[in-house]
Amino acid sequence: MTRNLATALLLLVLPVHALPRERTEIPEKYRWDLSAIFPSDDAWEAARADLAKRVPSLESHRGKLGESAAALRAALDAIYGAQRELERLTVYATSRSDEDLRAGRPREMKAAAERLAVDLEAATSWFRPELLALPEAKVRGLLGQDPGLAQYRFPIDDVLRWKPYTRSAGEEKILAQAGNLTAAGYSVDSVLANADLPYPEVKLSTGETVRMDPAAFTLHRASRVVADRDAAFSAFFGALKGFERTFGATLDQQTKAHVFTQQARGFGSTLESALFRDAIPPTVYKQLVADVRRSLPTFHRYLALRKRMLGVQKLRYQDLYVPMVEKVDLRFEPEQARAITLAAVAPLGKEYVDGLRAGMDSRWTDFLPSQGKRSGAYSTGVYGVHPIQLLNFNGLYDDLSTLAHEAGHSMHTWLAMRSQPFPTYDYPIFVAEVASTLNENLLLHHMLAQTRDDPTRLFLLGSYLDGLRGTLFRQTQFAEFELAIHEKAEKGEPLTGETLSDLYLKIVREYYGHDQGVTEVPDLVAIEWAYITHFYYDFYVYQYATSLVASSSIARAMRDDAKAGKTAARDRYLAMLRAGGSRFPIDLLREAGVDMTTSKPFDAAMAEMNATMDEMERILARQGKAAPAKAR
Ligand SMILES: [Zn+2]
Repeated sequence: MTRNLATALLLLVLPVHALPRERTEIPEKYRWDLSAIFPSDDAWEAARADLAKRVPSLESHRGKLGESAAALRAALDAIYGAQRELERLTVYATSRSDEDLRAGRPREMKAAAERLAVDLEAATSWFRPELLALPEAKVRGLLGQDPGLAQYRFPIDDVLRWKPYTRSAGEEKILAQAGNLTAAGYSVDSVLANADLPYPEVKLSTGETVRMDPAAFTLHRASRVVADRDAAFSAFFGALKGFERTFGATLDQQTKAHVFTQQARGFGSTLESALFRDAIPPTVYKQLVADVRRSLPTFHRYLALRKRMLGVQKLRYQDLYVPMVEKVDLRFEPEQARAITLAAVAPLGKEYVDGLRAGMDSRWTDFLPSQGKRSGAYSTGVYGVHPIQLLNFNGLYDDLSTLAHEAGHSMHTWLAMRSQPFPTYDYPIFVAEVASTLNENLLLHHMLAQTRDDPTRLFLLGSYLDGLRGTLFRQTQFAEFELAIHEKAEKGEPLTGETLSDLYLKIVREYYGHDQGVTEVPDLVAIEWAYITHFYYDFYVYQYATSLVASSSIARAMRDDAKAGKTAARDRYLAMLRAGGSRFPIDLLREAGVDMTTSKPFDAAMAEMNATMDEMERILARQGKAAPAKAR
């Protein structure tokens, strides 16, 4: 589970404080302990060889699922048992490899685990079609006959609901073969964007010349120097613009592939087809877009505040990535960061805090950067063992926030694995980022409660607002564009680079209030869609926005409860974490008190956003900055 886009981007602009040390120089307590997963690489190898031997025998259950409850259970026990062992092998090998990407043996172990995953997939690919070919009443009858099948009830329901969208055996074979062709648009886009596109060189104000590729653009669009961010903007988007027709053809191809799958399976729309995977009602998606649209005045209030904080006479699209409040020098030692995180999550109760502390003490986390270590941050886990967390802690507030974020994922995993059997412990992405962003929210409020000085408060509040822009508004703006292009494709309208750019620019200008003079959006912004790889995953990005809406709403309910001396909101939320993946995401969230089929959670998030801006304006008024500062 990777961190959400907005915070991941923050990580990229971190200054490097000191060269990372060799791993052997890092104190043991800041290195993860993998020994509970496997005591040694040799033990791992023995387990791998053992599973590799077992995998082909899974075929022996083929053709027997409908024979008896005992036969069904034997097949499920064997398949899920192999998957559980594969998880243990994969997480260990990946973690060992991430410790030092230069090391040969761990890299080979990781590749071996990946091959094993492919073999397991192939040896069990008959399972779904065979289950779907059985009469539903018969499967339900078998499930009722053996209590040992109870843990498989939800996963089986999840397969059975595909029945109306499953075709004959011959058609399914053709669909599977066609699956190899449906990623063509994405493949060509990746090669063009990452390898072949001639990104221009740009001379920065420091005298340094950089090649303005996607990584450099992400870094320099956030520059405090106006000329540098402008140069990054025109060079990068200018380069994309030169390939507008080609990017148009690749996205057109990908969108057509989504329409092909939708029509072949008989879904009413591409949106319905994509959201069916997690059983999300399409109304949730459309409502998010409508909620954001009607909240554009709140967004414009943020943009006006950003303009005032930056001290510019006119806010332009090029001015959106520089942090709205200049960074204050907040530094944290690792021990401080741990203590703050534990204190921040105190509203989640003793079990949560004790569990997290025990996890810190027993070294779930690889804390500090070292030579060759994988960059970024993530959380994963091994069922029946414990969560595993990778960080590259550098001591800044962003690093503290990342710790709280990943701790949210880890505790979700930990609570789910203690309450659920293996088949239902892993949770879907739609709820995953609720657990992580809720902790970020708790951290922010904890920090605000501890901080008296105005510059630091402004910095904390400003980072929160910038996060909302990147996660809630920007991702929903993408979601709206994505829906519009799919609707065009469903009607058989052609998508060209030019039509995509026209549509994109229209939406961005509406969001940013170009015509009302809120933000100037230059024509060149029209090509930005060509840089968003997420458009190749159908209807994915909206989940970043819905997760944040859900977590803001839960955090607010918990704060209201706390004032009234109640714990109902917290208890409902913890029950959701413990439920893992045992129900569909919308049902899980509803039980946590968040009904994503209504606008209520969204309105709670907007109330929080407005309260944040009220607070910033109060501070600015105190500082005597009632009028916008002069341009610089
Ligand atoms: Zn995350």
